[in-house]
Amino acid sequence: MDMPFMNKAMDWMPGCRELDAFVVDYLEGRLPWRQRLTFRMHLGMCPKCRAYLKAYAKTLELSRTAYATTPEPPEMPEELVQVILAVWEERSG
Ligand SMILES: [Zn+2]
Repeated sequence: MDMPFMNKAMDWMPGCRELDAFVVDYLEGRLPWRQRLTFRMHLGMCPKCRAYLKAYAKTLELSRTAYATTPEPPEMPEELVQVILAVWEERSG
């Protein structure tokens, strides 16, 4: 499977700090898919951020009120995300 955009996606690998800055956008689905992908790659290898995201998601859910209907960004099929993550994990050993 040839995925030239993989290299592009990997140009930007967020550190814990970047992840922290994007966590709200990620949870609210406002990140473009490429950014979401790198975000998830980082989550895949960083238990610290996984725990952080989980805690943050819970907080966000609790504080969420009925007002916001955010426009949906172009969605990337979840299956495609899974495939890409699988390939990436294979490559990184
Ligand atoms: Zn991290």
